[in-house]
Amino acid sequence: MQIIVAKSAGFCFGVDKAVKTVYDHISDQPLYTYGPIIHNPQVVKDLENKGVRVVNHIDELEQAEKGNMIIRSHGVGEDVYQALEKERFHIIDATCPYVKKIHRIINEFSKKGDTIIIVGDANHPEIIGIEGWSTVKPFIVSTKEEAKNLDIPMDKRLCIIAQTTFNPIKFKEIIEIFVHKGYHVDIKNTICTATKERQEEATQLAKKADRMIVIGGKNSSNTRKLYQLCKNQCDKTYHIETIEDLELLKVGNDEVIGITAGASTPKNIIQEVITHVRSTEF
Ligand code: SF4
Repeated sequence: MQIIVAKSAGFCFGVDKAVKTVYDHISDQPLYTYGPIIHNPQVVKDLENKGVRVVNHIDELEQAEKGNMIIRSHGVGEDVYQALEKERFHIIDATCPYVKKIHRIINEFSKKGDTIIIVGDANHPEIIGIEGWSTVKPFIVSTKEEAKNLDIPMDKRLCIIAQTTFNPIKFKEIIEIFVHKGYHVDIKNTICTATKERQEEATQLAKKADRMIVIGGKNSSNTRKLYQLCKNQCDKTYHIETIEDLELLKVGNDEVIGITAGASTPKNIIQEVITHVRSTEF
């Protein structure tokens, strides 16, 4: 059997930095993260066992014991920083610099009077955080249909940005709708190349693999996207969180097994899967 592991599998730069930040501050208790640090239940459980608590909403701050609060890589809105300062939490900011850049763009262009269009998933924490830096209510779209149906006066100048993990082709198609309508647009391509590179490498790997294993949390949107891209190329594609999900897999000795992992998957889980797959050869 040949096992090929994607070079881009696992933590991206921003997630790696955020997770390291939490482990580096383990002794600085009380220690909180604002939302689970990553979409990976095993890592979140490990941190919980080490005393790290999760706060999910500013309403919880008043009652909580005061301490250190880590902002995860997704970032948060300005209102959250204000609430943390008001409640005298010490902020340790692990927002990914690429997300921070979007906060600055949104803030600057909304202050200049632009209408803000955010292309992404309205329920994703990154988008909720980005929204919180706009001085005007932004429009959030994720499909061409939603973009077509937006009714914005033609004299408005539009600032269009993307969720860092948004599909670049779909982003381009959505921009073309606004350009075609005749708006004056400021386009900010804020899609992170880490995601693009991971997706491209996974697609290429899936093309030559007999089986493809995608490791990552079931609630991780970037892992689900990765799974779908691989599934399009390789019918035998499996989305797993840990080796437990691979129990029934039996692999022939002439098969090529591709392995990739979402941005929230730690190296040790990838290594466990590699070891387990080797042991299933018959
Ligand atoms: S995917 Fe890109 S933008 Fe998002 S946390 Fe990772 S490095 Fe930062």
